[in-house]
This record gives sequence, C-alpha cells and structure tokens, in this order.
Amino acid sequence: MSLTPRLQPSALVGEVPRQVKPKKEAAAIELGWPGFCPRQPRLVLPIFDDSGSVSLPGGGDPVGNRYQEALLAFEALQEWCSCGKCLAGVLHFDSPRGDVDPGKLRSFTFQQHLTQGLRVPRFAAGSSVLGPSLARAEEIAVSLPKHEVRLVVLTDWQLFDNDNILDRLRSFPGAVLAIGLNADPPAELLGDDIVSLRIGHGDRPGAVARALFGELTVGRRGRRFIGTPDRDSAAEEAPK
Ligand SMILES: [Zn+2]
Repeated sequence: MSLTPRLQPSALVGEVPRQVKPKKEAAAIELGWPGFCPRQPRLVLPIFDDSGSVSLPGGGDPVGNRYQEALLAFEALQEWCSCGKCLAGVLHFDSPRGDVDPGKLRSFTFQQHLTQGLRVPRFAAGSSVLGPSLARAEEIAVSLPKHEVRLVVLTDWQLFDNDNILDRLRSFPGAVLAIGLNADPPAELLGDDIVSLRIGHGDRPGAVARALFGELTVGRRGRRFIGTPDRDSAAEEAPK
C-alpha cells in the first residue's frame, strides 16, 4: 500500500455538473413559454379515469402525479391569457362527481376551482366507463361553438362501455388527444383529429404536464414548447 498522498483533481472551471436533486419533482418540470393568445379561443378539457387500474399503486398512472402535473400546465397559462377567452375544465369518468365546468384560465378564482377538481373525487365510484364524461364533453363543445375544444382523455383504455365508445370519441366535435397511461391507446382511434400518446412508468416526470401544456398552447403565437418529440411537428404548425 502506498502512502504517497494522491493529488485530487482540481475542480473543472466553468462546467461543474450540478447534481442537486430537486426537493419536489414538480419543481424540475420545464414546460416552456405559453406565447400569446390565439385568434380563435379554445377550451382544453381533460377527462380523468379514476378507476383502480389507474389510481391504485401499480396502476397505469405513470408517476402517481397526473393531477399535480395537470395543474402545473393550467397554471402556466394563467399569467399569459390576455384575451380572457382561454378556457379549461375538468371531467372525471364518474361524471359529474368532481367535474369543473369550463372557466377562464386567467381567473385566480377559477384556478382554485381547477385545483379542487384535479384530484380523485371524494366517494368516486372508480368506474371504468368513459360514456358519461364523453357525453358531458359533447354537451360542452356544442355550448361553446366559437371555441375550438381540445379533449384530452387520460386512461389505461380498459373500458367497460357498452356502446361503441371509440366511434363516439372519433366523431367528437373537436381535437382529441388520447393518452394511454402505461398502455397503448386503441389503434382504432387513429384519425385526422385524434392523436395518441402513450405515457408509461418509464417516462420522466412531467410527461402529463407537457402533454397538456402542448394542447393548451397549440396555435399560440411565439410559444416555446418543451414537449415529446412526436408531438412537436404536429403542434408547431403556423397559427391560423
Ligand atoms: Zn387568452
């Protein structure tokens, strides 16, 4: 054994990699910059599946954090809506329990409502049925003809609906982002107005927040979007 003291390498100047772990993962999630309001106002409407296969430990929810991540995305828009027409809402599979009707993203009071709605509703039945919340989404879309409605369905797609729910989803009057929580969305869903996205346990934290932020900022002028690569090309089209 040598007793010669070893020289320690001096710290590299300039590029010392930082390995500081953030206290909360949410704090490390970067979404980008929302940009300026589009000419046609829009409503972004997520539908959450709270059934056991998603909500319980080991279920399809990738980081157990989908609600907090959704809130991050909505909050990112609050300061940047100047038109007052950018809307959001929340629907749950056990509609209307825990639902939040559409409201203005820039309103502080409405953001508080969103916070209330972005959790598993109390006494939720945990049904695996999309139909009731999809019916509510259709009603909302019809009631807001001047808005572009963007529906985001977050589920593991283990659905127990009786009728042909996928056909109904395909004919939804608006854009649909079908997110598969640790599952692939059904291949039958692929269509012009439907984009499918799988978010799995292996994805880094923030995948749900980025997906929603992408929907919230599609067509917003000047936005900078740190998103999943396969969404970028579709999402960065010139504003109409
Ligand atoms: Zn706006």
